[in-house]
Amino acid sequence: MSDTPKSPRSTVRRAPRRGTYSRDDLLEILDEAWLCHVGVVDDGAPVVIPMSCWLYEERLMVHGSPRSRLMRLLLEGAAACVTVTHLDGLVLARSAFHHSMNYRSVVLHGVATEVSDPQARGAAFAAFVEKVEPGRWDRIRQPNDAELRATTLLGFDIDEAAGKRRTGGPVDAPADLSHPVWAGVIPLALTRGAPVRDGAAVE
Ligand SMILES: Cc1cc2nc3c(=O)[nH]c(=O)nc-3n(C[C@H](O)[C@H](O)[C@H](O)COP(=O)(O)OP(=O)(O)OC[C@H]3O[C@@H](n4cnc5c(N)ncnc54)[C@H](O)[C@@H]3O)c2cc1C
Repeated sequence: MSDTPKSPRSTVRRAPRRGTYSRDDLLEILDEAWLCHVGVVDDGAPVVIPMSCWLYEERLMVHGSPRSRLMRLLLEGAAACVTVTHLDGLVLARSAFHHSMNYRSVVLHGVATEVSDPQARGAAFAAFVEKVEPGRWDRIRQPNDAELRATTLLGFDIDEAAGKRRTGGPVDAPADLSHPVWAGVIPLALTRGAPVRDGAAVE
C-alpha cells in the first residue's frame, strides 16, 4: 500500500531512520491501540485528552458525549494532533546516556469528521465491540435511540501522519562495552489478564 504524503510537520527529523510513512505500518500500529491522546488548542492553550480509539475503514475513530469539551471542539473543526504509543521494552545500556525505550508510535495531524450515517455508525461501533471481544456485538443489547443520540462518533483520516519505531538493544559506545554491568532489553507488553466475572447478573 502507498505511503502517506509527508508534510513539513509530519516529517520525522530526529532519527529519521526510525520513521515510517507506510500506510500499512501506520494502520498496524493504530490497529493495536486501545488508547490515543487527542491534543487541541482550547481558548489559546493546548489540552491533551486520553481517549479510547479504534480503527474503522482505515480511519481512527473516537467517541464521546456531545457535551464533552473535547467533542465539541472537534465538532467545531479544531485542528487536532492525535498520538498513539506502544511501549515495547526498556533498553538498558552500559552508560546512563544510552538507556532508551523500544516503542512504536504514530503522530497524526488532522481535523475530525463526524460519522452521522446510522448504518456507518452501527458498523463502526460494532467494530469497536468486536475488537474488545470477537463475536460480542451480536450477543449484546443493541444501542437504543437515546444512547445513540448521547454518543458522538468522530473519525480521523490517516493522511498526514508519521510513525516511528525503535527496536533492538542498546547502542553503547565501543569504549563502554567492557563496563561490567548487565545490558540488554526488558520487553514490556500490554496483555489481557484472566477475565473477572461481574457477578451482577439477574436471573
Ligand atoms: C483510558 C481512557 C479512555 C477514555 N475513553 C474515552 C472515550 O472513549 N470517550 C470519552 O468521551 N472520554 C474518554 N475518556 C475520558 C476522557 O479522558 C475525558 O475525561 C472526557 O472525554 C472529557 O473530556 P473533556 O475535554 O470534556 O474534559 P473536561 O472535563 O472538560 O476537562 C477539563 C479538565 O479536566 C481534566 N481532565 C479531563 N479528562 C481527564 C482525564 N482523563 N484525566 C485527568 N484529567 C482530566 C483536565 O485538566 C482537563 O483540562 C477516557 C479516559 C481514559 C483515561
